[in-house]
Amino acid sequence: MVSQLFSTTLVGVEAQFVRVEVDLASGLPGFHIVGLPDAAVGESVHRVRSALRSIGHPIPPRRCTVNLAPGDLRKEGPRFDLSIALGLLAASEVIAPELVRDSVVVGELSLDGGVRPVRGVLNTAMAMRERGLRRLFLAWENMPEVDWLEGLELWPLASLGDMLQHGGGPPMLERREREPRPSPLEVPELGAVLGQDIGKRALQVAAAGGHHLIWVGPPGCGKTMLSRCLPGLLPDLEEQQALEVLAVSSALGVASDGRTPPLAEPHCQISAPALLGSHRPGELSRAHQGVLFLDEVTEFDRDGLEGLRTALETGWIEVGRVRTRVRYPARFQLVAACNPCPCGFAGDDKKMCSCPDSRRLHYMNRLSGPIRDRVDLQVTLKRPDLRASWKGSDKTTSEQARERVLKARRRQLQRGCLNRDLPRSFFDDSKVITMKALDFLLDHGNQKHLSMRALEKVLRVSQTIVDLEGKRGIDMDQVQEAVHYRCLDQQGW
Ligand SMILES: [Zn+2]
Repeated sequence: MVSQLFSTTLVGVEAQFVRVEVDLASGLPGFHIVGLPDAAVGESVHRVRSALRSIGHPIPPRRCTVNLAPGDLRKEGPRFDLSIALGLLAASEVIAPELVRDSVVVGELSLDGGVRPVRGVLNTAMAMRERGLRRLFLAWENMPEVDWLEGLELWPLASLGDMLQHGGGPPMLERREREPRPSPLEVPELGAVLGQDIGKRALQVAAAGGHHLIWVGPPGCGKTMLSRCLPGLLPDLEEQQALEVLAVSSALGVASDGRTPPLAEPHCQISAPALLGSHRPGELSRAHQGVLFLDEVTEFDRDGLEGLRTALETGWIEVGRVRTRVRYPARFQLVAACNPCPCGFAGDDKKMCSCPDSRRLHYMNRLSGPIRDRVDLQVTLKRPDLRASWKGSDKTTSEQARERVLKARRRQLQRGCLNRDLPRSFFDDSKVITMKALDFLLDHGNQKHLSMRALEKVLRVSQTIVDLEGKRGIDMDQVQEAVHYRCLDQQGW
């Protein structure tokens, strides 16, 4: 008797269907899995055998063949355990074969028959809706990822034994609304950051215009704390963005509230595959539709930075895998941080930098041009003076800043796009910028040998400042502030 059902494997963040065929035939007893399984799938044999024995239905002493089709798609991980076990129960007619036919089954088994959660269940459910499949068998622990989706018949299982008790009908479950769950991300409060008024202001400009940003400052000056405040200044995710973020979280097996923009902050010694993605999404994709914070950006691996450049250009990252290339989504706002020099004290009022010029230059060169070119805001942070910060720092709260940001974003979206994507032609209109401000900017640019690209960035940032302040057009004040946020140009780096 042959039984058939479906399972899925993840390719990138997309679930691809795998047909699981189980054949029990007369002949020498044995158990074989064919169809390009990896080692973890091969080990299913042992888990399935134990699990079935534990519920009192050991594998019959016959020749048992499991085929995972299509044969040219690599199958990874232990996610096929449950489908193979249910296929066997159906093939030996312990459960009705039509119960699992045209169903999708994902779950790992423990030796005592317990059903464990797997990654990518939301991705599976979304693929099922596209394909018109309804019935999904899964672990109870995976339920919160999918129990808000319409049009599915969910069969959560705590153990394989539940299958025998369910008999013919599905368990009675009420679909619930997708409700905001507590965010797994602890976003610090902007008002709690002491001092660094320039940093706070620049952060609001970055949030408002969607601009990429780099902090240049000594260790311990608050770069990390400021950067972590950014998700709290951004608007909630829209419906489509939330779905994309939830799909990445599900493929990673991490929690997401589907509302707050995510934050990823990989360590500088992370390997390129962990940053860019390999058999699962990397940190760049974890930041998808949110914020990527790279502290000590000069210390990252060259291949990793090269991948970062591609992601900034395209919003995707493509990685090579055995036999195939996989595409992961990676559209994020970049916040990078570095020291002004290897010792960290260049430009400090109190302590001398001990680095030779050549070493400093080499250090800054590691911030390769292509990445620097994409960062609109380059902000110098100084070590805060404790006395001054304690007394008189800007006490704007995250909520107040966010209000302003949302207002500024609404103005931009009425024009069609965020300021980070404004075309140069936008600034040809004489109503956008005053003659005086433009003259000032061009003179400044000539003096500092700014590239045309850098000039455009100053203009875009100026426009964001205009939107934040609710002004009509760009004037001297805005250009002067925007020029101030180009520290890497100023210092000839
Ligand atoms: Zn130094």
